[in-house]
Amino acid sequence: MGELPGIVITGASGRMGQMLIRSVVASDKVQLAGAVVRQGNGWAGRDLGELMGLGHGVVVTDDPLEAFAKAQAVIDFTTPEATLEFAELAAQARATHVIGTTGFTDEQLEALKPAAFHAVQVRAGNMSLGVNLLTQLTKKVAQALDEDWDIEVIEAHHNRKVDAPSGTALMLGEAAAEGRGIRLADHREAGRDGITGAREKGAIGFSAIRGGDIVGEHDVLFAGMGERIILRHMATDRGIFARGAVKAALWGQDKDPGQYDMMDVLGL
Ligand code: NAP
Repeated sequence: MGELPGIVITGASGRMGQMLIRSVVASDKVQLAGAVVRQGNGWAGRDLGELMGLGHGVVVTDDPLEAFAKAQAVIDFTTPEATLEFAELAAQARATHVIGTTGFTDEQLEALKPAAFHAVQVRAGNMSLGVNLLTQLTKKVAQALDEDWDIEVIEAHHNRKVDAPSGTALMLGEAAAEGRGIRLADHREAGRDGITGAREKGAIGFSAIRGGDIVGEHDVLFAGMGERIILRHMATDRGIFARGAVKAALWGQDKDPGQYDMMDVLGL
């Protein structure tokens, strides 16, 4: 291996895993140090050249510890359960752990913390520059408007997505709550169906659309009397998340252990 930081991609056969492998291989700032899949996944033991036509000579493994030991960073877009396991292994290897996985419970988020005593952990429900900017704008607008303005986060994703609201929608909801000086947990309203009663004043609502191959769309709607403001982000290419994740992996190289997010990486 040369001088460039080595990156391991987990969930290599997944939608984001494949995109991440392509982004790392295309980058002149990092190199691919390994690709990890779950035990029993058909990619284990096979060459990425054969699987993805990359001609790179990296053999996919189902042994994360062995792979992480050779890496400066791990980029992980998998499932909360897998990410918890990877966090411990990344900490052992003192590798920067970039976490794009979403859908964590509060308990799982708590369980991620100990690993960050030993390694840099960068976690964000959305790694794109545009959404992180949108988060800042959402906070600003919520700060400027009072409770007479109803806030709704409306998101759309492809039909294979398993969690709702999306990690990004929750990030935007948190930003709106922060701007308004309230706790999202106390004012969150999701999954309306049937006779729900009138909208609760001050609630932050969430709606999720699922269909087709939608990469990710998010609207933050501020609805007042006689006027509406809509802040919108539309992702058309998963490459934006992958490039953000690679940026985070590089950024983490000279940072002290701890938990960070994309706002830190982007300096927003
Ligand atoms: P996906 O296509 O289902 O990929 C998930 C991958 O994780 C699968 O290949 C799966 O392998 C693998 N995996 C599960 N458990 C594993 C384990 N224990 N060890 C190794 N690999 C394991 O899903 P996706 O669309 O790529 O999304 C993945 C995650 O990233 C989701 O949480 C999604 O919400 C999130 N995401 C975040 C961002 C962001 O910017 N933060 C952007 C897009 C997506 P098997 O097929 O073998 O089970």
